[in-house]
Amino acid sequence: MNVRRLMSFLYPDRCAVCDEVVESGNMLCKECSQKIRPLHGDTCHRCGKLLTDTDRLYCYDCSRKIHFYERGFAIFEYSDIKKSLYRFKYSGRAEYAAFYAFAADRVYGKTLKELNLDAIVPIPIHKRRLAVRGYNQAEEFAKELSKRINTPVMSNLIRRCKSTVPLKKLSEEERKNNLKNAFIIAANDVKLKKILLVDDIYTTGATIDTVSALFKEHGAEQIYFITVAIGAGM
Ligand SMILES: [Zn+2]
Ligand SMILES: [Zn+2]
Repeated sequence: MNVRRLMSFLYPDRCAVCDEVVESGNMLCKECSQKIRPLHGDTCHRCGKLLTDTDRLYCYDCSRKIHFYERGFAIFEYSDIKKSLYRFKYSGRAEYAAFYAFAADRVYGKTLKELNLDAIVPIPIHKRRLAVRGYNQAEEFAKELSKRINTPVMSNLIRRCKSTVPLKKLSEEERKNNLKNAFIIAANDVKLKKILLVDDIYTTGATIDTVSALFKEHGAEQIYFITVAIGAGM
């Protein structure tokens, strides 16, 4: 058995949605490639969530709240990709990033290229968490996306200096305070006008907003974001 065959025997390619072993070189199994669909329908012109009331431009949340970013794009509805995202983040399936970037390019590639972005910036995780996980899932997605839309990834502009309590456990007000001091800009001069932030999921937007505000304080003019998944809209 040659090394390549041995490797694919030990570490076979797996479907990025259901994790079944697939033929070498495939990102999805046949069933999932027919079933999985990116977000479709009218979406909020700000955060990108699916709208239930299609007469509106903005979701309930965005029509009441000021965001610090210009516009967000999400590839999948959270419920459709939930298990895959969990494995991507917690079970070492960093390679799923290739499929997420492929899907991102198919849905938003043209739009993202037209924005003439200066850089892709993954939302950082704390170095302790990075040591445990071995990778930052947002950065893996950012690197794959970078190849697709020809925009450089800049991972060192911002650092997570405080390990945050899992956001689910906090109220909205607590989240804000918790996040406010969690990030610092590591570069003296950002010198970027248009930035695409990248994360695995968008829920309330607190993290994306905090980082957007920070970059704007440091001279960025327009902030966009893309996430693999987004929660259901209203
Ligand atoms: Zn599958
Ligand atoms: Zn919205």
